[in-house]
Amino acid sequence: MSQNNVEQMIIIGSGPAGYTAALYAARANLKPLLFTGNEIGGQVAITYEVENYPGFPEGLTGPELVEKFQQQAEKFGARIEYDWVQEVDFSRHPFVVRTANGEHKANAVIVTTGATPRKLDVPGEKEYTGFGVSYCGTCDGFFFRGKEVIVVGGGDSAIEEGIFLTKFANKVTVVHRRDELRASKILQDRAFSNPKMEWKWSTVVERINAAGGDGNGTPPKVVSATLKDLKTGESYDFPADGVFVFVGHTPNSELFRGQLTIDDAGYVRTDRRYHTSVPGVFAAGEIQDPVFRQVVTSAGQGAGAAMQAEKFLGELEAQSYHEVAAEHGPTVLVAM
Ligand code: NAP
Repeated sequence: MSQNNVEQMIIIGSGPAGYTAALYAARANLKPLLFTGNEIGGQVAITYEVENYPGFPEGLTGPELVEKFQQQAEKFGARIEYDWVQEVDFSRHPFVVRTANGEHKANAVIVTTGATPRKLDVPGEKEYTGFGVSYCGTCDGFFFRGKEVIVVGGGDSAIEEGIFLTKFANKVTVVHRRDELRASKILQDRAFSNPKMEWKWSTVVERINAAGGDGNGTPPKVVSATLKDLKTGESYDFPADGVFVFVGHTPNSELFRGQLTIDDAGYVRTDRRYHTSVPGVFAAGEIQDPVFRQVVTSAGQGAGAAMQAEKFLGELEAQSYHEVAAEHGPTVLVAM
């Protein structure tokens, strides 16, 4: 902490972008304070295997990578707090960040709150989450040993998680709304050659059905999904013990609504150097990137945001906040 209990830098979020920003800021001797939020490590923490992060040719698990990120940031002096940010005030400087444990002030803030899996919004989805409906194969796959499951979606997450689920389930049926996948070629090849994977093309889930849970003490248990073939218009019940939903993500930007410029899809807008609409507040990773969304790109963006924040803090040593902000002029925010 610097003078008057004002932090030089607060980082909100503990995914690859947050930890990498912390690493770079710590190495710049800024002693950053990072608030992890509830989901420590973000989405990569619930990823079974990371095979495409450079430097690890054998691959490693998501939790292992997160642990390494954290160790490396702490080694250089980053402070990691297991706390949840409830409110921010970027309308005055130093900025105010309120957590469950108190109020903090900072000269610069880096927002790295990432994104959350999107819901299907069909009957049964919410009611049976945890009773057969899941958003994480890595977390819940084990419970489906010897069972039959549905995976919804056609992107990298759906196909990667579908392949992972074949380690447990006897059959994994991918239900996709189009007749071609958007997942990468390598994953497609692996999935198409996996004998446990089956396909329902041009099909959507209309409803998720369960048995039990009728108040006599037995919890509900998913037994089928009502599917609709979009080409024929036919709806039918398809038996399944579990439904895994991987239909994209929603950025975690509610906290910043009214404070930062946010686009229609909920992403925090930044310029090409990770400045948000407020000088001194930067954003990196999936909170501002609907396109690349890789561990390596988020980490790179976190490094870039920290370098820009360091530059900003250097300017702040010689000038007032308003002078620095005026020099930066209006930020040109671009879509990724
Ligand atoms: P995504 O690429 O946005 O794919 C979402 C999938 O869900 C799409 O196939 C989409 O269908 C479908 N979908 C969306 N809304 C739907 C709805 N309401 N009902 C039914 N289907 C719906 O999301 P993602 O797979 O989570 O991947 C996000 C990003 O992370 C991507 O950039 C991906 O490359 C990256 N990622 C990479 C890896 C890896 O490199 N190993 C692993 C996981 C994720 P349409 O295709 O018709 O739009």
